[in-house]
Amino acid sequence: MFFIDPHVHMTSRTTDDYEAMRQAGVVAVIEPAFWMGQPRTRVGTFQDYYSHLIGFERFRASQFGIKHYCTIGLNSKEANNEALAEEVMELLPLFVCKEGVVGVGEIGYDDQTAAEDKYYRLQLELAREVNLPVQIHTPHRDKKKGTLRSMEVALEHGLDPAMVIVDHNNEETVQDVLERGFWAAFTIYPHTKMGNERMTEIVKHYGPEHIFINSAADWGISDPLAVPKTAQLMLERGIPAETVHLVTYQNALAAFSQSGQMQESDWLNDRLIDQSLKFSGNSILRGGQTPKIEADPTIIR
Ligand SMILES: [Zn+2]
Repeated sequence: MFFIDPHVHMTSRTTDDYEAMRQAGVVAVIEPAFWMGQPRTRVGTFQDYYSHLIGFERFRASQFGIKHYCTIGLNSKEANNEALAEEVMELLPLFVCKEGVVGVGEIGYDDQTAAEDKYYRLQLELAREVNLPVQIHTPHRDKKKGTLRSMEVALEHGLDPAMVIVDHNNEETVQDVLERGFWAAFTIYPHTKMGNERMTEIVKHYGPEHIFINSAADWGISDPLAVPKTAQLMLERGIPAETVHLVTYQNALAAFSQSGQMQESDWLNDRLIDQSLKFSGNSILRGGQTPKIEADPTIIR
């Protein structure tokens, strides 16, 4: 089975993770721009971070046989530094139209402050102008209120719910999101957001329509194999393979391919690893390491 993990912060992960993900069937990942743990103090660090997401990280993923896409945005937490946020807003239009950028994200509310509201709205306007999907981070505190507000504001700004992915849902929010025609994404994240047994029950109850899952693996205690592990559990618990395929692959592809930057042929036609390749003159290898180069089994020489 092939999987897509449509929310995972690979910059914070190791090459072992990339190898294990590929082994488990993950063919493509989407990395939303987010808060790095250490608050940034200069606009230049945002600029370099966005360049990293569309540049080196994309290359690094390719060296392990995984297609890498990203969403670009100002995260809600750092939107509270208004002076910096103003400068970051000026950068965003330069990055959202780059190759491999499949949306504006992850944006939304954290503490639901006035500053967060201001920059969320400005970024919704940007997404609408450039016709890209939006990836919404919903808050951990006051989740239901924050989720409803995220959707209301998106509608107020004229966004089509089919272009908006509401992330980090749970049992309390899923019905409201589906009823309004938005995509309902779920983060399988240990001990906090959602476990995979609960997720299995949600899919049994609501079916697969407009639902998909991700790992949101990052620098915290998280699991980059959450998508394939949840697929496995769903199959074991009697969910049909077609349903599992929808929530672990097809629906994420349908949502984010609306960007025009991501299609199945990207990985179906190009899955082979060639670690002799370089990015800006550098490979991922250190002195003495042997590059892994996979041969195309359909070619006879
Ligand atoms: Zn995230």
